[in-house]
Amino acid sequence: MSDPPQHDQASHVLRSVFGYDRFRPPQDEVVAHLIAGGDSLVLMPTGGGKSLCFQIPSLVRFGTGIVVSPLIALMQDQVAALRQAGVRAAFLNSSQRPDEARRVEAQFRAGELDLLYLAPERLLLERTLDLLDGSPLALFAIDEAHCVSQWGHDFRPEYLQLAVLGQRYPGVPRIALTATADERTRVEIIDKLDLTVARLFISSFDRPNIRYRIHEGQGNVRETLLRFIREEHPGEAGIVYCLSRKKTEDVAEWLTAKGVPALPYHAGLTAELRAGHQTRFINEEGIVMVATIAFGMGIDKPNVRFVAHLSLPKSVEAYYQETGRAGRDGLPADAWMSYGLQDVIMLRQMLAESGAEVAYKRVERHKLDAMLGLCELTGCRRQALLAYFGETLPEPCGNCDTCLAPPATWDASVAAQKALSCVHRTGQRFGVMYLIDVLLGKQDERIQRFGHDRLTTFGIGTELDAKGWRGVYRQLIARGLLNVDVDGHGGLQLTDACRPVLRGEEALWLRRESAVPAGKRSRVAKSPTDKVSGGKAAAGNFASAEDQQLWAALRGLRMELARAQNVPPYVVFHDATLAEMVRRRPQSLDELGALSGIGERKLAAFGEQFLQVILNPVA
Ligand code: ADP
Ligand code: ZN
Repeated sequence: MSDPPQHDQASHVLRSVFGYDRFRPPQDEVVAHLIAGGDSLVLMPTGGGKSLCFQIPSLVRFGTGIVVSPLIALMQDQVAALRQAGVRAAFLNSSQRPDEARRVEAQFRAGELDLLYLAPERLLLERTLDLLDGSPLALFAIDEAHCVSQWGHDFRPEYLQLAVLGQRYPGVPRIALTATADERTRVEIIDKLDLTVARLFISSFDRPNIRYRIHEGQGNVRETLLRFIREEHPGEAGIVYCLSRKKTEDVAEWLTAKGVPALPYHAGLTAELRAGHQTRFINEEGIVMVATIAFGMGIDKPNVRFVAHLSLPKSVEAYYQETGRAGRDGLPADAWMSYGLQDVIMLRQMLAESGAEVAYKRVERHKLDAMLGLCELTGCRRQALLAYFGETLPEPCGNCDTCLAPPATWDASVAAQKALSCVHRTGQRFGVMYLIDVLLGKQDERIQRFGHDRLTTFGIGTELDAKGWRGVYRQLIARGLLNVDVDGHGGLQLTDACRPVLRGEEALWLRRESAVPAGKRSRVAKSPTDKVSGGKAAAGNFASAEDQQLWAALRGLRMELARAQNVPPYVVFHDATLAEMVRRRPQSLDELGALSGIGERKLAAFGEQFLQVILNPVA
């Protein structure tokens, strides 16, 4: 029930300050609700545009908008970007000198701030609350609201105390925001933040610009990764996730030696080194971060063009969160994963050996199984992903590997019977290598010692080679027809689920292991991306040499301006905005100002310089 003038005001701010033509649903509704003074909880995927939901009402409503944000780096980034757009924003956090903090406080008291960002522990200090008591407040925004969840991995105890805001400032609307989609977290946020009367806004969690690709790693995974980066993302920023610290260092070093600038990131590095690598990743173009899962939270970089997994994530939730760091700017991006039998066995073993409670292990086991199911899928990956989060995508997406190149399947019923009965006859205690040797009828001292060369399954599997059998075993494990033993030797055991297949009562169709390297496959299928991303080609992927040159020149200018102000390049302009400049070639400041992402303030500050580069590309 927002009155029209205020709604007009919101649209005006969107255009003049941020340079965008229209709200992305449900931004408009959220903004209107907040401006009208209502509380809300907003669930939107990464890159969905949560920030505008509270930034614009802060500008429209009287008083200062107070933003609670858990990470200093995020806060600094958002404030820097807002200032570029001419918004009076500031933060108070522990990275500041006392005199800087005092200046910000004075600005706040004088009513000179539209937005003030605070870490939760800072906000909860009596001193800060006193400060807030004395001035008009437009709203409270609680960003990354899932930090209240004790079950999540981002739990921040101070978030639990934020319920005081509703009690202490009853007239000030509150908005909580998160990209965590699951029901339990949602309920916890509402409960812990005392938001029972808040309106709930849920947008689709689909990330249509991300292309999901999962393949079984064959041969040298590093080489496959290098080929993928060289062929599809040369000079672009990306994140590579590995399971172990040592591996991140090895891979980073190796990529660098091959001419791809890469840095390691894991919890074992000194805080200084980690911060340094993170800053380089954010401030430079084209750095590849090779990281354990310790890296990512609080990375706002919009132009991460790919996220690669060199091993299997532990759950679909983790996979979705990690891949979600790609393509926040909405331009085409890849979620690329290579995994193999070894990952499956290792993760199952890690889980079995962990000292956790049985109930917890069971939940984790189910999560891992769901992840494996996603890997071995023969249908659309996006449909399965969204279904996992309770959302229905009616049609296959056309932008995942299985849609672009449907995997061939084969009737593996007989092969599966052989594989399973070999497990049974050898006593359910041997690993995959041994079982395959038996199936292939290998003359081996161990096999003879155990008398397994006299089994009926000895040598009955010559129709497949060792690689083929590994594929069969991996898929049988992934589908839960086989278990990996708990004592850590990797022995396989039958499960109840395998009986119908073993008895020949149920047919089993498996993915045919692809002979085509993943990189090649997707090259052929480049055009469907254009369809799903609304005709946008990847940023920086221009057909003509002239366009390519202009793109490079614009990026150069952007880097220069960013360096001079000590901010990341994307804070000056996003890739999408530079790409628009190349495509549309504006000939005047007016035309330039009409492009998406150029507000009045940025036009005044940088317009002339960018226009000169466009008008005189070779100068
Ligand atoms: P989130 O916080 O949900 O991850 P952001 O608020 O950082 O997402 O927004 C993601 C990107 O989308 C940013 O680059 C932002 O400038 C852009 N964006 C947000 N809203 C709009 C809009 N209405 N039109 C165009 N771009 C938008
Ligand atoms: Zn699909």
